[in-house]
Amino acid sequence: MSFERFFNDITSLYGSRAAVARLLGVGQSALSNYHKRGQMPAGKLQLLADDLARKGYHLDKERFDMSQIEAVTPSRKPICLLIITGGIAAYKSLELARRLMDEGYIVRGVMTASAQQFITPLSLSALTAEKVYTDLFSLTDEQEMGHIRLAREADKIVIAPATGNFLAKVAMGLADDLATTLCLASDAPLYFVPAMNPVMWAQPATQANCALLKERGAIQIGPDVGDTACGEVGAGRMASTSDIIAALSLSSQPATGIADHQGSLYGKHVLITAGPTQEPIDGVRYISNSSSGKQGYAIAAACVAQGAEVTLVTGPTSLPVPDGVHAHHVLTAHQMHEASLTNLPADIAICTAAVADWHVVGATHQKMKKTDESAPPMLELAENPDILKEISAHPQRPDLVIGFAAETDNVINAAVSKRLRKGCDWMMANEITTGENVFGSDHNQLIFIRDGEETTWPNSTKSELAERLVAEIASHFAQKDAL
Ligand code: C5P
Repeated sequence: MSFERFFNDITSLYGSRAAVARLLGVGQSALSNYHKRGQMPAGKLQLLADDLARKGYHLDKERFDMSQIEAVTPSRKPICLLIITGGIAAYKSLELARRLMDEGYIVRGVMTASAQQFITPLSLSALTAEKVYTDLFSLTDEQEMGHIRLAREADKIVIAPATGNFLAKVAMGLADDLATTLCLASDAPLYFVPAMNPVMWAQPATQANCALLKERGAIQIGPDVGDTACGEVGAGRMASTSDIIAALSLSSQPATGIADHQGSLYGKHVLITAGPTQEPIDGVRYISNSSSGKQGYAIAAACVAQGAEVTLVTGPTSLPVPDGVHAHHVLTAHQMHEASLTNLPADIAICTAAVADWHVVGATHQKMKKTDESAPPMLELAENPDILKEISAHPQRPDLVIGFAAETDNVINAAVSKRLRKGCDWMMANEITTGENVFGSDHNQLIFIRDGEETTWPNSTKSELAERLVAEIASHFAQKDAL
């Protein structure tokens, strides 16, 4: 078998290139090199063979022959209990169920009474080829599969969408229907995907319930910021299916044996802002900054490659979200601000976004008409929140806060004083007038500034700079842990 085919088989076995890179403790660029060269270093091959052996496979290292990889013990497919509660986003859970099956799960659907107002058990059952459970007191269900067995057999419980009401019940330990009873009766990892109106989401009661669930080990996925079904804009949209799948696969890596090679940022949550923001003037015009988002996306990929859990809050870019990154797409500075603070706590915050400093007061949804007679409109601007500054002063301040400063002149002095003004720990400065235009380029030059240190890093690709920054972060935490 060709190395190419072997490489593809391994990638699909582990779920993504990022997962293979994490296992081998290398970046994805190294993986691309192996792919190109048609071979990999003997040590890395042995690492792979060992991990495959733990999974019940035998690898013939001489021939890269997948036909030589035989399942010694067929492993049981993991069971995901998908609990659907009553929100308009329930229809998205049908797609989620299919994607979970593509990821190798047996999906057992559970629907609350309100969920059945939005979608039918029949649709879910037809898609999952499994019985869908709805009733705590169903005699037939209890005979076939008691609720305790249903709870115990689950490897993961995913509540999507999770309404404010359902989250409140689970946080309080209520068990007044099948879905809540299963949450109480199971000790499987619990993931919840909130989806509700922005005001309901912002309520202190909802926030406190989510905080309580997270404190007890449950994992929150989303919500995203944007238009919601009720017409209001804000945080409350259900996270995208791909983000849910990414979050599930990230936190399941230790169980698949990858815990042996966790990466230098394993166990750390990194919050990254990237890209520009767009501040509407009217329905078609906006104010924005030049930014491709490439440096922030490269940092997100480099953090994931080192085993971190990465939340990327990104303004509009044309870039694909790197594998394994949990992305929140936003447009305005206010949305970026809200999505960033919603995703605290984090161990590390890296603000690479080119946030617009001002928004237009009274921006309308309609397009302003230009006529021959009318004078140009006067725009009234108001200041946007400073996300980096707020994160640096936040009660849940990350251990390490990093800002970026694009300057046109007197770069170092400007960046040094900006670091102090914003209250962040490190500032990455770059000059944007000389040499190649950094916006949109694959290259960049950074000056690394922290208390008592200013080091100019050589002009390199944004991916190489991202890897260097990640190495610097890892060594910062290693030194801290050693104290
Ligand atoms: O003030 P200036 O825009 O030059 O600061 C740059 C740094 O501050 C970057 O890290 C950027 O992401 C962050 N920033 C922010 N919120 C703003 C403005 C800038 O997070 N409103």
